[in-house]
Amino acid sequence: MNATDAFLSTLVTAPASNAALVNLKNVHLSFGSNEVLKGIDVQVRRGEAVSIIGPSGSGKSTILRCITGLLRPQRGEILVGATRVDTLRTEAELIALRKRVGFVFQQYNLFPHLTVLENLVLAPTRVVGRDRTAALREARELLKKVRLAHKESAYPGELSGGQQQRVAIARALAMQPELILFDEVTSALDPETVGEVLTVIRDLVKDGMTCVLVTHEMRFAEEVSDQVYFTEAGRIVEHGPARQIFGNPSSERTREFLQRSL
Ligand code: ADP
Ligand code: MG
Repeated sequence: MNATDAFLSTLVTAPASNAALVNLKNVHLSFGSNEVLKGIDVQVRRGEAVSIIGPSGSGKSTILRCITGLLRPQRGEILVGATRVDTLRTEAELIALRKRVGFVFQQYNLFPHLTVLENLVLAPTRVVGRDRTAALREARELLKKVRLAHKESAYPGELSGGQQQRVAIARALAMQPELILFDEVTSALDPETVGEVLTVIRDLVKDGMTCVLVTHEMRFAEEVSDQVYFTEAGRIVEHGPARQIFGNPSSERTREFLQRSL
């Protein structure tokens, strides 16, 4: 193939910019006899921030774990780009997916015996085989982005919860994922450090990183989200632009939930 043909073929195979990066279609998942996802449809386009809100136990974390391939639904389809996540079988395929999908959750789970900087270079050098010099340079850039450049030599135990969570976000970014899932990343934090973590996520959204957020910070979800999904008992009750869901929800259930949560 000559250079022109190679270029043209990228145009043909490149997904349209508004194509969904994540697509869940009629996803059903049970734990034993407990059906916790009862036909979930979710779409996330490239560059969008999508929030999933709803009562505890409604299936929000289960949806995120399906997107990472950690859980496999019994029915339905899950696509990340062109990859059918629900049918991946080999460990190699799952590892390849996890490089593309960053996941940050409530417990930051940093490696306590490694410095902040080493926490960031570990996976890129060991899992992806990135050159250590390049990985160090990128890690320092990411620490600037999460406003922790001055903490590169600190150990996790020397940091506040909010600082550790920002390191965890930088660590996810170090794999250069196509999207990041955030599962209640501020729920375990002292109230005074919640804001600094939300600021980092807000910056990522502004930079155009595709983000899926499960959060109880309703004002934040309203502010940053393009689309909001409201879940209850394993179903999407309604979804739409943030302004519509928060300003004028069509479902009485959504209305009640927001009145209690805002
Ligand atoms: P949410 O994140 O909205 O609070 P989850 O997705 O964590 O809800 O849980 C949805 C339902 O699935 C709950 O009833 C929960 O008890 C159940 N569940 C979640 N994970 C498991 C598991 N590993 N085994 C059995 N049941 C689970
Ligand atoms: Mg949860």
